[in-house]
Amino acid sequence: MRYLIESYGCQLNMAEADAMDAILKGRGLERTEDGEKADVVIINTCSVRKTAENRIWGRLGYYSALKKKHPLKLIVTGCMAERMKDELRKEAPFVDAVIGTNEKAEIPDYIISDSLDHLERYRFLPSYHKDGEWSSYVPIMNGCNNFCSYCIVPYVRGREVSRSVEDVINEVSRLGREGVKEITLLGQNVNSYSSEYNGRHVDFPTLLEIITPYLGSIAFVRFESPHPKDFSDHLISVIAENDRVAKHIHIPMQSGSTRILQLMNRKTTREQFLDLAVRMKERIPGLTLSTDVMVGFPSESEEEYEETLSAMDILGCTEAFMYYFNPREGTKAWSMDGQLDEDVKIKRLERLIAEQLERQKRIKEAMLPFRAMAIVTGRSRDDEDMFLARGEHNDYFVFSSDLPHEAGDIVTISADALSGNTFRGSEYA
Ligand code: SF4
Repeated sequence: MRYLIESYGCQLNMAEADAMDAILKGRGLERTEDGEKADVVIINTCSVRKTAENRIWGRLGYYSALKKKHPLKLIVTGCMAERMKDELRKEAPFVDAVIGTNEKAEIPDYIISDSLDHLERYRFLPSYHKDGEWSSYVPIMNGCNNFCSYCIVPYVRGREVSRSVEDVINEVSRLGREGVKEITLLGQNVNSYSSEYNGRHVDFPTLLEIITPYLGSIAFVRFESPHPKDFSDHLISVIAENDRVAKHIHIPMQSGSTRILQLMNRKTTREQFLDLAVRMKERIPGLTLSTDVMVGFPSESEEEYEETLSAMDILGCTEAFMYYFNPREGTKAWSMDGQLDEDVKIKRLERLIAEQLERQKRIKEAMLPFRAMAIVTGRSRDDEDMFLARGEHNDYFVFSSDLPHEAGDIVTISADALSGNTFRGSEYA
């Protein structure tokens, strides 16, 4: 039997698709990328933006036509399947199964035995590692209790569920034995992690401490995403003192205005967020930051937008994911007063991006020259004689070397120039 998986959206969706893939392969099924040859198609959907859902409707049209040509089991899962179960069943009756986020782990059994257990709680799979990859996601929790007013995640992924410490240790130690070089601990809000181990409560920084002896070949431990309201002093100390935890932290700010943060239900203020960033930089040597920023939230004034720009100056990120507010049906912000015109939102975003590109260029130029450890990702696309590598701070290097290298090798690079967003240099012998 051949199967095809189409996955959209966040890293957790990608990790879950990799986990399903590994189970199906392990049970003797064969993966194909060609719908014409597939006996089963799994569409792993995303609901974060309307455009993502529109795209899925288009793909459903394609598979509906394909089903008329040859028999095919079509499964729709993920956040859109959770949010629009009834609509999908009504509007797309040719779909064989609409499977919500809690039951996603049951899909391999459903394909093989045609029966599906209904689960009340999300279930984690044994491993999310994609065979042969030097970098791997390790989901540690699922769901979110925060209900930021613009976000659909709590409605489609449900409440927070933490993976057991034993399961995280098992997966991390297996990856460390298999030669994986980098892991990213994943969750919608990793620092809400809460579990028990040997009779004591385990929070996120404690989990980082517990897994450290099992890391083996893993050089960099990353995590995404932490919520600023739960970023404790203990977590800052663990990052500062643990050599394996990458000194590049993604910490979503969303807005630099306290009033807008309150409307967003972020449970933090401008001052608290910036104070956290300053404390992190003081206590973690060499720390770089990245963030998420949203402009054009309902009723955001010009002054409040300027506060976001000034907060970005104080933060000094080397990377930022910037977007404008896009109302999401089913969230509180969807019907808020003061929705801004599209052209105002676009203008605000354009200036934010232009300033950030300048800022990150300045920060990176000021770092030169320097030496850094990085993981080879392959050959440079522009110059076959050069290699490409990714460093601790999520920065890319194009470098020369007299040695043969392959993806996953750890190298030390002397960087002496910046080209666009990429450092250039040579391997330090
Ligand atoms: S913390 Fe807020 S933005 Fe993040 S997943 Fe939860 S509700 Fe969404």
